[in-house]
Amino acid sequence: MRTKILVTGGAGFLGSHLCEKLLGFGHEVICLDNFFTGDKKNILHLMSDPYFEVLRHDIASPIELEIDQIYNLACPASPVHYQFDPVKTTKTSVLGAINVLDLANRLKIPVLQASTSEIYGDPEVHPQPESYCGNVNTLGPRACYDEGKRCAETLFFDYKRQYDLDIKVIRIFNTYGPRMHPNDGRVISNFIVKALKGEDLEIYGEGSQTRSFCYVDDLIDGMIKMMETGSHITGPINLGNPGEFTILQLANRVIELTESRSKLIYKDLPQDDPLKRKPDISLAKSTLFWQPSIELDEGLRKTISYFETILSD
Ligand code: NAD
Ligand code: UDP
Repeated sequence: MRTKILVTGGAGFLGSHLCEKLLGFGHEVICLDNFFTGDKKNILHLMSDPYFEVLRHDIASPIELEIDQIYNLACPASPVHYQFDPVKTTKTSVLGAINVLDLANRLKIPVLQASTSEIYGDPEVHPQPESYCGNVNTLGPRACYDEGKRCAETLFFDYKRQYDLDIKVIRIFNTYGPRMHPNDGRVISNFIVKALKGEDLEIYGEGSQTRSFCYVDDLIDGMIKMMETGSHITGPINLGNPGEFTILQLANRVIELTESRSKLIYKDLPQDDPLKRKPDISLAKSTLFWQPSIELDEGLRKTISYFETILSD
């Protein structure tokens, strides 16, 4: 019997890679998406697989399905997208969590939450271990996402305590790769698209803020490993690549790898933009025997070649 797996947000960047990988393992996959930031093009190549189904649905509304596992990824992830309709973002995170948890609880099946490093806000502890409770401004423009995701974690752990549900929470750090939306405003897609078009790359602030970038294939491996653990493993577990770069270093790498003549220009730093971010992945190493293997340059090359293809279409 094939395992029937629900992937919410399955038409998005990470969700489409996850659906593809799960189908490749011989599972049956239901991709649920409202197509807010997802795109049918991301899953077009999966449509001919008889074990792949697409369901247009908003996860903020309840849903009844018969399935064996749930990966909950439905939520816009880029600051530009999640700040577009902040009330909706919180609803997606919080009501979406309640809906997948209720579904999982009725069926008594495992459910994985795609949480985020944004849980840590603008961190005062560096690198960030899972035990760090974070430094989030509840009132700022990022709060709809950060607090929505924090509340979703709370719900997951309360369903565990109250109903003994098999929950899995991963905290994803900045992940990049093919199928990122070219206009989603995230730094890697922005820089690559602008470099390929020969436009100026915009550095917000002085570019001294840091991020740690994980290539999508590594991340998806970790996510599936987490789902495959026994019910005693709940997380939260950080998944990300600890290689840390300033935004200025990233811009220069992208310019070099694309052999672009683009220049750097400086813009204001957005409010509450975290100054540094780097995962402590000790727990992922010891619990999941997982660590990323794709270095930034290699991942950037693959991502650049994806954007070259879609920009020439
Ligand atoms: P994405 O925007 O490409 O994908 C999100 C998907 O969810 C899209 O297909 C979108 O249409 C769908 N969606 C949004 N609201 C929905 C709703 N109400 N109902 C149904 N579908 C809805 O983003 P992504 O980078 O693939 O992120 C996927 C998940 O991983 C998100 O939950 C995000 O918070 C989390 N995450 C991603 C990163 C990253 O760096 N990519 C980092 C941390 C956490
Ligand atoms: N950033 C930038 N130029 C851009 C896009 C982003 O300098 O065109 C910066 C942004 O201010 C942040 C970092 O790059 O410090 C990462 O931004 P992103 O939106 O990708 O993700 P975040 O980690 O902030 O959610």
